[in-house]
Amino acid sequence: MSAWQELDDELARWADLGRIATLWWRDDDAIDATVELDRLLAVRRRYDVGLALAVIPERATDGLSARLAEDGAAAALQHGYAHQNHAGGGEKKIELGPHRPAMMVLGELGTGWLAMERLFGTRALPVMVPPWNRIAPALVPTLPEIGLRGLSTFGPRKRVEPVRGLRQVNTHVDPIDWHGGRGFVGEQAAITSLTRSLAIRRQAGVESGMREEPTGLLTHHLVQDEAVWAFIDQLFARLRAHSGVRILAPQEVFGLS
Ligand SMILES: [Zn+2]
Repeated sequence: MSAWQELDDELARWADLGRIATLWWRDDDAIDATVELDRLLAVRRRYDVGLALAVIPERATDGLSARLAEDGAAAALQHGYAHQNHAGGGEKKIELGPHRPAMMVLGELGTGWLAMERLFGTRALPVMVPPWNRIAPALVPTLPEIGLRGLSTFGPRKRVEPVRGLRQVNTHVDPIDWHGGRGFVGEQAAITSLTRSLAIRRQAGVESGMREEPTGLLTHHLVQDEAVWAFIDQLFARLRAHSGVRILAPQEVFGLS
């Protein structure tokens, strides 16, 4: 059976249960108004889906600000501060890690948020997307203290709110093969991860944080190849054809609307 057929079958199971399969879309590492960004926004418009763009505040330009202002359905999430690795050699890359005093990290994030507000106004959502999807556990409880209300990494979340006032909604499907040359992981692998995420949610108990977590597609407009672009296009075309699928706006995902 083809992977697309398995996805259709899983969506049919959701429909049989009377449940709406909710999804959302996050794209990372936005800095400037580039041809790749225009391409991304064109896909967004073609399928009329919401887009959460994770922006690197320290490097974001007025050009990016102007381009996003033209598109009513793209929101900006805060992607760390400078997307700078502070891990030692041999460690996994991390910006928001335990390597520096928490006050220093939080000070940077506060500066970053001011840039987000200045550049994107109400389009900036107080949601932290840690670079490399990693954040030191000790930093998480401090995020609401600096005004953040959302957190997004990768993989099924453990809890809806890791701390009071902070809603976590992760991404689950990454079409890039980061460790194998940064090309497309392939249709089979990409669709299977989506189908699996939906199946886990369908079977999860009501107390599980995963059950109502919208399944997130994670893309990287600046580095993805043609095969990834083609996959995204095909995926949205397919999803938009299902009446039981809803692709949520970023504000809705984080309860900020
Ligand atoms: Zn990133």
